[in-house]
Amino acid sequence: MGFDLQPELEALEAQHLRRRLQVIDQVLPGGKVIVGGREFLNLSSNDYLGLALDPRLIAAAQAAAGRWGAGSTASRLITGTLALHQQVETEVADFKGTDRAIIFNTGYMANVGVISALMGKGDVILSDRLNHASIIDGMRLSEAGFYRYPHRDLNRLEDLLKKYCAVRRLLIVTDSVFSVDGDLAPLADLVRLKERYGAWLMIDEAHATGVLGATGAGLAEALGLSAGIEIHMGTFSKALGSFGAYVAGSAPLIDMLHNRARAFIYSTALPPPVLGAMQAALAIVRQEPEPRDYLLEQATLFRQRLQAAGLDTLESETQIIPVLVGDNRRSLEFAARLRQIGLMAVAIRPPTVAAGSARLRFSLSAAHQPADLARAAEQIIAAGREMGLNKRTCS
Ligand SMILES: *Cc1c(COP(=O)(O)O)cnc(C)c1O
Repeated sequence: MGFDLQPELEALEAQHLRRRLQVIDQVLPGGKVIVGGREFLNLSSNDYLGLALDPRLIAAAQAAAGRWGAGSTASRLITGTLALHQQVETEVADFKGTDRAIIFNTGYMANVGVISALMGKGDVILSDRLNHASIIDGMRLSEAGFYRYPHRDLNRLEDLLKKYCAVRRLLIVTDSVFSVDGDLAPLADLVRLKERYGAWLMIDEAHATGVLGATGAGLAEALGLSAGIEIHMGTFSKALGSFGAYVAGSAPLIDMLHNRARAFIYSTALPPPVLGAMQAALAIVRQEPEPRDYLLEQATLFRQRLQAAGLDTLESETQIIPVLVGDNRRSLEFAARLRQIGLMAVAIRPPTVAAGSARLRFSLSAAHQPADLARAAEQIIAAGREMGLNKRTCS
């Protein structure tokens, strides 16, 4: 009866699914952290370019606070739109090559806001099964019908497009780089299909912004497909080192979001220090390709080392590299072993991934030194071998 929470928590514990917060005591250069007096190589951060500690972002945040204050004091449609918000939005549109852009307080709010603003009763959304939770929550909130097609399965997607092509609005939504496995959406095929069936395409570039593309604008830029995509979403909270998110697209799209996206309308505007950091990060990312080139080179090397030792890195092609374990308890044990030797990596368990496919997720950063990554790969391989994870096939 009532709010008896303890049994539910105990059930999570029994299934090895209970989560706990871990406190980082200190953040160090080189992608390292101190926890409980010990130093770890952090292989779980999304700070892919090491910009969170970049003195230029820190200085820009301080300068913006000095000039505009610590808070924006109101929501965007009231008196919370500073010239600084408008500047960042203009810079994002320029970066993404779209007419206009809008910033949201978080990527979570951007996805929830956009999907629920555009889609309603009688509309249909087709979503890759491994899309981020914020996309799922946006679909739920929208009251549109939605279908989660099997991961990257174009045949199933096309069947659904055929079936629903007469509805008012038909939207395909996908992560561009998938957040758990670091694999890529089949963007060229998605553009072809959405054109054929009169759908719109929305892509979430949270893990690609700053990392992929000649100027760091993401996978759509890397593949030359930007112009064929109606809704570009991405974040400042990962490779761009600070916080917040953007949606870029046509002028009517952005105007509609100003009017209908409740996550935009009913929340206080991003504060000036964050906007300062956003501007600095955008400028750096556009002008400096070297860190992302280094990151992707190191990721390829790291992945190849693990694969050569017989670990299963699934379909990763990016700085996000999973190692499949399977069982929840064993994935926790693997993470615990790595922790003992100074490596911080999280076990990803259901419901984030399918039952029986728990895995460790390693995310690399341009802040990591080559020697630290080489040693980490050796240590992961050795720990994996002790756990019997290295399945070498002799072909
Ligand atoms: C992290 C992430 C988000 C949410 O972004 P926040 O700015 O952290 O709220 C949305 N989509 C994907 C694919 C993500 O990985």
